[in-house]
Amino acid sequence: MSSLLVTGIGQLVTNDPANGDGSDLGLATNAAVVVEGRRVVWVGAAAAAPEADAVHDVGGRAVVPGFVDSHSHLVFAGDRSEEFAARMSGTPYTAGGIRTTVAATRAASDEQLAANLARHATEMRRQGTTTFETKSGYGLTVRDEARALAIAAQVTPETTFLGAHVVPAEYADDPAGYVDLVTGPMLEACAPHARWVDAFCERGAFDADQARAVLEAGIGAGLEGRLHANQLGEGPGVQLACELGLVAVDHCTYLSDADVSALAESGTVATLLPGVEFSTRSPYPDARRLFEAGCRVAVATDCNPGSSYTSSMPLCIALAVREMRMTPAEALLAATAGGARALGRSDVGRIAPGSTADLVVLDAPSYVHLAYRPGVPLVHEVLSGGTPA
Ligand SMILES: [Zn+2]
Repeated sequence: MSSLLVTGIGQLVTNDPANGDGSDLGLATNAAVVVEGRRVVWVGAAAAAPEADAVHDVGGRAVVPGFVDSHSHLVFAGDRSEEFAARMSGTPYTAGGIRTTVAATRAASDEQLAANLARHATEMRRQGTTTFETKSGYGLTVRDEARALAIAAQVTPETTFLGAHVVPAEYADDPAGYVDLVTGPMLEACAPHARWVDAFCERGAFDADQARAVLEAGIGAGLEGRLHANQLGEGPGVQLACELGLVAVDHCTYLSDADVSALAESGTVATLLPGVEFSTRSPYPDARRLFEAGCRVAVATDCNPGSSYTSSMPLCIALAVREMRMTPAEALLAATAGGARALGRSDVGRIAPGSTADLVVLDAPSYVHLAYRPGVPLVHEVLSGGTPA
């Protein structure tokens, strides 16, 4: 196996408190990383670096772990820019807009869906995302959900069955019948292609009993649970996720004090999705409340054609800092190690011996520039599993 020495790193973020300055970010200066195959095998001072088969000098730039985007919806077809324009002209966002994408997705061929997914995956990688999760949820039939997941599983191991995204129009008069479909034949067809099961627990989508039924059925079929909750208002979703011991609960825009306590006690990761508040012109949650209570926090894009059509983790970091009151260090941790934790992964989201060699070289002297220079394409190059991406 050939080795690669990445050196000339002006500032290295390892997310390994055992490394560098001992902070959560594990910051080091004038650092180097040795990669063998897909793995990091050595991290330390450039002056003390061992020899390697090849040397790559990054010229004093900052290097951070690849971003881990733990929440996206990329298997879809169609365009909803008109809906966005209408919303920015004063029409409020509701969960029902999902049905527009459902119609376009059902009508698309497998090849069209795969090509659209590949385009978005490339877009993410160019912006430094080296691990991403993505969901079904725009098919809402047994056939369309299963094919969405089969297509997604070609590009990421982090696939999520979201048959319980919204009740499709043909079940509008029989939501209980739709939950039976999701927990029965649809789950059976989807489970072989999915790692996770998810539901949209929200007024206008699924209530707590329905979400619980979907999650319990999925967990019974060998999947792990995660949940969309508390996006449009306070509700039972966050506490349901904590009670079930789910790895993550996503959105968390409207939280009661009891919700925050439940998150802190359960260890369920609260995944904040600032692109949604940005794109729906909604109030942002205050991340300080979560940090002060001792909650685990992740930041993800929720990239989807309706409520957050950005694939940019750097933008989400900038929004988390500016609008959710995270420090730049907290936001970067939430977008890397936090995302990894939200996916139950310890091999990504850090740069340490044994971790996957996912490195992002920034055209900047410091990671702080991710928030300090919003909208600027700072990703100079990406190593994904030790390979230039
Ligand atoms: Zn979502």
